[in-house]
Amino acid sequence: MKHVIGARCTICGHLTEALPGTTVCPDCGGILDIEYDYDYIRSKLTKYDLMDRTDRTMWRYMEFLPVEGRGERPRLRVGGSPLYEADRLGKMLGIKKLYIKDDGQNPTASLKDRASAMAVVKAEEAGKTTIACSSTGNAASSLAGNAACAGLSTFIFVPSRAPKGKVAQLMMFGATVVLVEGSYEDTFRISAEAIERWGWYNRNAAINPYLMEGKKTVSLEIAEQLGFIMPDYVAVSVGDGCTIGGVWKGFKDLYAAGFINKLPRIISVQASGCCPINTAAAAGTMDWVPQEENTLADSIAVGVPRNPVKALKAIQESNGVTVNVSDEEIMEAMRLLGRNAGVFAEPAGAAGTAGIKKAVESGLIEKDATVVSIVTGNGLKDVTNAIRAAGEPMSIAPDMDRLLAAFDERGIRP
Ligand SMILES: *Cc1c(COP(=O)(O)O)cnc(C)c1O
Repeated sequence: MKHVIGARCTICGHLTEALPGTTVCPDCGGILDIEYDYDYIRSKLTKYDLMDRTDRTMWRYMEFLPVEGRGERPRLRVGGSPLYEADRLGKMLGIKKLYIKDDGQNPTASLKDRASAMAVVKAEEAGKTTIACSSTGNAASSLAGNAACAGLSTFIFVPSRAPKGKVAQLMMFGATVVLVEGSYEDTFRISAEAIERWGWYNRNAAINPYLMEGKKTVSLEIAEQLGFIMPDYVAVSVGDGCTIGGVWKGFKDLYAAGFINKLPRIISVQASGCCPINTAAAAGTMDWVPQEENTLADSIAVGVPRNPVKALKAIQESNGVTVNVSDEEIMEAMRLLGRNAGVFAEPAGAAGTAGIKKAVESGLIEKDATVVSIVTGNGLKDVTNAIRAAGEPMSIAPDMDRLLAAFDERGIRP
């Protein structure tokens, strides 16, 4: 990989070779970050070259990815999700220009597909046929789906609280699924032991530096979809911290390669009931403190974040904004997205939008700002909370008088 310099430790700065099976720093155990030769990338790819490419998947940005190619096996179509101009919703949130990046439209319905697609390619490069991970749900279902397409097998560890929709995906994709009676922290620990014991390829995002490289393609797409004219802010929900780290890495890559001349500020959104990263960021420290996992947004219910360093750096370096939102605010954002933009988000997928609303209301961001909200997951994954947010429909006997009465009762005038 001529365009990859190596993998640098985010803690001690040690540079190691980026091999397919590379995980954490051999010196200190810190999380690694893939480093590129931007002059080389610049010499191989321009904005204009991209225009000519017909591949609409995440692999369209091959020069920015830590792979030689996408391999021989079949692949799901990952990436290429729409960026909607959401003027009506923007007005309701009180900002000048709002875009929705709907990453719930990935093949297994979350942004995690970008990381899992990368994991599958790297596992093949490493000569492995079995991949494992622990996950709050979406990393697991995306890994199971992407692996199933390529013909690899998967061992998946999820906390027993994982929503049924995500567990159904796992079973449908043929994963060996272990529901762990405990927190995400407990789930992570047992998966790490099992991976060590059986030598599977490790798709745990905090351990595997390549996954964030997959996730960053969401930012490459946002930039390209906006004609490389950067928004003022990009909002994203935060659990482990890999997504926000990837989002920031994508923009930094484009900046370093000369594709954009401004970097957006990142709005880091967490649930008030579980916000260890935002709490540390707001206090200006890297020393986060574990918290309980009290939120209905299961994908960001992460009391012990696995990638705090990259997340906190993304907030710091981008001169970012932190916002914590309640479950009520998340459910309101779910309704707003659905009713004013036609986008169905799972709770963590709507959290970014809830954060924008709160940030405008509290004067953290300017009303004349241009903001992109990343919807990270689709609402069908968690139907229970969707119904909770949107309510139950009216129900009648099949009779016109009953219909009229039901409309009357609710003040509906067709
Ligand atoms: C995983 C996930 C997040 C948060 O990503 P982290 O890397 O854990 O911070 C947000 N939304 C959804 C839908 C997710 O699946």
